[in-house]
Amino acid sequence: MSYVDEVLEYVKKKNASEPEFIQAVTEVLNSLRPVVEANEELYKKNAILERITEPDRQIMFRVPWVDDKGQVQVNRGFRVQFNNAIGPYKGGLRLHPSVNLGIIKFLGFEQIFKNSLTSLPIGGGKGGSDFDPKGKSDREIMAFCQSFMTELSKYIGANVDVPAGDIGTGAREIGFMFGQYKRIRGTFEGVLTGKGLTYGGSLARTEATGYGLLYLTQELMKCHGESMEGKTVVISGAGNVAIYATQKAQQMGAKVVTCSDSTGWIYDPEGIDVALLKEVKEVKRARLTEYAAARPSAEYHEGRGVWKIKCDIALPCATQNELLIEDAKQLVANGCKCVCEGANMPTTIDATEYLQQNGVWFVGGKAANAGGVATSALEMSQNSERLSWSFEEVDAKLQNIMVNIYHNIDDAAKRYGMEGNYVAGANIAGFEKVVNAMLAQGVC
Ligand code: NDP
Repeated sequence: MSYVDEVLEYVKKKNASEPEFIQAVTEVLNSLRPVVEANEELYKKNAILERITEPDRQIMFRVPWVDDKGQVQVNRGFRVQFNNAIGPYKGGLRLHPSVNLGIIKFLGFEQIFKNSLTSLPIGGGKGGSDFDPKGKSDREIMAFCQSFMTELSKYIGANVDVPAGDIGTGAREIGFMFGQYKRIRGTFEGVLTGKGLTYGGSLARTEATGYGLLYLTQELMKCHGESMEGKTVVISGAGNVAIYATQKAQQMGAKVVTCSDSTGWIYDPEGIDVALLKEVKEVKRARLTEYAAARPSAEYHEGRGVWKIKCDIALPCATQNELLIEDAKQLVANGCKCVCEGANMPTTIDATEYLQQNGVWFVGGKAANAGGVATSALEMSQNSERLSWSFEEVDAKLQNIMVNIYHNIDDAAKRYGMEGNYVAGANIAGFEKVVNAMLAQGVC
């Protein structure tokens, strides 16, 4: 049995109740086979795969808080500190009822490789709680966040572990948590990212994931002798990633003709009006029917359907498992050349394989949406320097990072005889750096 298979069996046995974690480890280790086979003796002797699949520590704790009726509520808090070989643990805090240890471990494991790909010194971690922020008052949110941070503050720090936002954790929650950390530890330090601009946040963080996606896509096109100019782009979602991806694509001379939310989608052959989309989604927090009502060129359709529209480039930016095998077939039939993921895991495995087998240039979210965490790391740098960089400065660094990510994943795929397989390239490039650091640091 190969070393990869041995470790997969061991991980499955030890984590039997964590299907998402097993799925993530299986996907990553399978794509690493060529690099592991080339170094099997060294990695096996040093138990690299056993060590990289076992978190440094996983912390679980009680989060008691009082609701608006005076009732005590109890949630479960998590922080998985997975691997700090290349820098302090870094990864978001997810607040959602579906959160459990297996989900946090899966996200923390993936984060190791994504963070490594940014080329910045950040290790992998993830945390959160099964608390549901929907429908809670501001006071209840604050009560939860303060209680959560009261325990979490024992385990984090600007040089130890720097959490960020994620689903359910936005600027409001980060603010409450930062305030409580400061109060308990008596220190003002960059312990969280995604902070408000008045207390250490970074310019361009809001735009970073969408802009970064386009910087990488543009480089990929350029390296295939193409440009963004005049291309038709189909984008799903109408949230943070989708809005800023649309804006940057248009700045690059492409025409974005779709957007979507969880109830319907827009086809606007004249090109999406970003100012109107922002007004509808960021200001009014309304449905896309309002976009269609205000824009004569737009058609609104219920349900899902953006992938039916003929395009050169498709950028899924909404949610997981939103681009299915039948969508992949439709995209290929319509001549789509390139798919880059803005969301996390939006393309199913069979759809990914179909796109790759049919010559579509496909870059997964681990590389393509890394601009968000990269800019969080730039926020850490600014906090350490006690300086704030201009928007242009952060944006230029982001652009440089995304271009480098593309070349690193392209190069890693070529080195192992898988030219054009950017999914394997991303896993390999992220893995190599972490493993080299682990080997240099001895048994720990
Ligand atoms: P938002 O919540 O801002 O936006 C998500 C968008 O997707 C909304 O328009 C939402 O519609 C839509 N959506 C949600 N579920 C569905 C569905 N089932 N079908 C169609 N549309 C749906 O999130 P973000 O833009 O921040 O994140 C989008 C994705 O990108 C997520 O996978 C996230 O993990 C990933 N990501 C985000 C980063 C960031 O910096 N923001 C960084 C890296 C990855 P509705 O308004 O109806 O809910």
